[in-house]
Amino acid sequence: MNHEDTICAVSTPPGEGGIGIIRVSGNDALTITDTLFRPRKNKLLLDAATHTLHYGQIIDPSTGALVDEVLVSVMRAPATYTREDIVEINCHGGMTPLWRTVALLISRGARQAEPGEFTMRAFVNGRIDLVQAEAVMEIIRAKTELSLKAANEQLLGGLSKEIANLRDRLLSLIAAVEAGIDFPEEDIETETGTPLAEEVSRIRNDVDMLINSFHHGRILRDGYATAIVGRPNVGKSSLLNALLKQDRAIVTDIPGTTRDVLEEYLNIDGVPLRILDTAGIRHSLDRVEQEGVKRSLTAIRSADIVLLVLDGSTRLADEDRRVLEEITGKPAIVVINKADLPRTLENIDHPGTEVCLSCRTGAGLDALRHAISEKVKKGIAGFHDHSWAINQRHRTILEQTKESLEQSLESTRSGLSPEFVALDLRAALDSLGLIIGATYTDDILEKIFSEFCIGK
Ligand code: GDP
Repeated sequence: MNHEDTICAVSTPPGEGGIGIIRVSGNDALTITDTLFRPRKNKLLLDAATHTLHYGQIIDPSTGALVDEVLVSVMRAPATYTREDIVEINCHGGMTPLWRTVALLISRGARQAEPGEFTMRAFVNGRIDLVQAEAVMEIIRAKTELSLKAANEQLLGGLSKEIANLRDRLLSLIAAVEAGIDFPEEDIETETGTPLAEEVSRIRNDVDMLINSFHHGRILRDGYATAIVGRPNVGKSSLLNALLKQDRAIVTDIPGTTRDVLEEYLNIDGVPLRILDTAGIRHSLDRVEQEGVKRSLTAIRSADIVLLVLDGSTRLADEDRRVLEEITGKPAIVVINKADLPRTLENIDHPGTEVCLSCRTGAGLDALRHAISEKVKKGIAGFHDHSWAINQRHRTILEQTKESLEQSLESTRSGLSPEFVALDLRAALDSLGLIIGATYTDDILEKIFSEFCIGK
């Protein structure tokens, strides 16, 4: 991919809005925009000071027709998002003036930006590393304040520092081992044997700790998988609606994907809960007993937490017993609903936490929220220790790093020559470099940034 030309894109979401922004980045951002921009003050953008705002009009140069009334900001390299010259054109927020302006920019030599290409340039030009670039998308997709905090921490370099620290420690080890290889006659004490193995083990353990943060990262990004199960008519749908009314997490659909059912997310104490099988809950289609139980069991199996709803105004049914058996070993809350009606349900033995509530009156919903929050905290040890967490790409690479480190330990243990040990350590160093993008290929970049939105 060409990282030198000037790119442009509409950076605001499609549709009507109060304002629509086109971003232009590259060496020719100012000169290209100047060919379309008629400033009120008759001054070229090329002559404007950096970080200034200019009022005027976008004119189609071939016809002289007015396209839109705009405000243009000029930001000169290097203090910009991409470290290149950037122009942002604030149009009236409708798709026609925006697309028309982008088409004109392209006709004057700019190129339509690929998804995430502005952020990719920030990376290629050294303003941020790959982990930080990924954090930008995490910020856009953050489902709760806790997810946002983690993403911000990652953008600020929290995770990058951890990786850099591991790389520094590996580099020192490699230097010590290689010194022994390069100058054997000088009798430099080669750093092999126990001290080497101990430090490699320490690094391996730290890599392991990073790998373990994947679980909490997955929850922050994808949500804590939550199954709401129970017989028809116990009040699952009422419960979901009651919770959504107060705790709905604001989630936008990921561009480019279509889902049959938009997933619902709750925000409980900052932790996003992703509700499984919303369609099943909402429509209660499965009036046939067996189907309902099957559906519940499927949801329970893929859940991180189960809310099993029982009707407090009826006696326990066989179906309830079947589902109760399945929650053993899972973080589960038994919700006894319809507490506004006289209780007919017998006392039951189960391994979960029990909460009595009424979806009709709302009594007990707070207790349920509290119970969920407690379970979640217990279920994710160390959740609040540090706020950033690795993603799937990092995890795959860290597993490779760990393998190389273990290989080097094996080489040391079996008394292989230091060359081999150094080779394994270098492999570990290189794979850590892939995480932050110390080494990369265009393929890798395209894969990562294709997940981004256009204009970011
Ligand atoms: P689902 O089939 O499990 O999703 O159950 P619904 O949420 O559709 O509720 C079934 C029926 O129970 C509906 O008529 C609800 O109005 C009623 N219901 C739900 N929660 C309560 C409650 O707390 N108290 C009372 N009295 N009725 C409730």
